[in-house]
Amino acid sequence: MPEGPEIRRAADQVEKALKSRSVMEVKFAFEHLKDYESMLEGAEVVRVDTKGKAMLIRFNNNVTIYSHNQLYGKWYVRNAYNYPKTNRQLRLAIHNEKKSALLYSASDIEVLRNEEVAHHPFISKVGPDLLSEDVTIDELKERFTSKRFYRKKWSSLLLDQSFVAGIGNYLRSEIMYVAGIHPDLRPVDCTEEMIEKAAEATITLVERSYKHKGITNDVELAKKLKSKGETRRQYRHWVFNREGEPCRIDGTEVKKIMAGSRRLYYCPTCQSK
Ligand SMILES: [Zn+2]
Repeated sequence: MPEGPEIRRAADQVEKALKSRSVMEVKFAFEHLKDYESMLEGAEVVRVDTKGKAMLIRFNNNVTIYSHNQLYGKWYVRNAYNYPKTNRQLRLAIHNEKKSALLYSASDIEVLRNEEVAHHPFISKVGPDLLSEDVTIDELKERFTSKRFYRKKWSSLLLDQSFVAGIGNYLRSEIMYVAGIHPDLRPVDCTEEMIEKAAEATITLVERSYKHKGITNDVELAKKLKSKGETRRQYRHWVFNREGEPCRIDGTEVKKIMAGSRRLYYCPTCQSK
């Protein structure tokens, strides 16, 4: 399932294909959006933003296309009118002279006037997006210790899109490991130093995953392991998907538990209570 970094990378591709070029044709699969097709033809894409797993394609005529990939949505960027071979259903196509940006399978697509974007039910609730907005460590620390969040467990906060946008299941385990936070803990149980570490780990790992195609492990270490013949699944993460394997720091066996019906991996030594 794609997390924020995967959506941001898709947004970069879509932006590169569409930005500052006139749109030749737009096609929506859904009947209720058909009237917008002619409105968008001839317009230019100004920017593509993300808000967690949502994408906002902003046009120069005060219109924004909102899309949320949910579980199955997938973007393809191709040369113009060059469709990929796939059994997925095409839901949105934006073509210019050179490129086509094609969204398959997603059902959550809307056309909004710019002033409506902030009030959109998902956008209005979702937390800061670390890859599309400038978010500082201090701002995150403040958020982590705010009344709204500080009595909830980290393991549920880190999957809550209103806390920080774009974090999904692998990032949750990886952030908690790097910050040294035991799965039972809440921000209120943590020292200031732990809160600081958690804020740093959140920013660092989301950016690393974005820059290095989903790798959250130390990048040099991952390269070394890859050169020794390890598979991507083996070298990609610190603890995620590594149940029974030794912790990369101290050799303790990595444990897997269920938290919020999702898999969570941790090292009992690095993340003691
Ligand atoms: Zn450890």
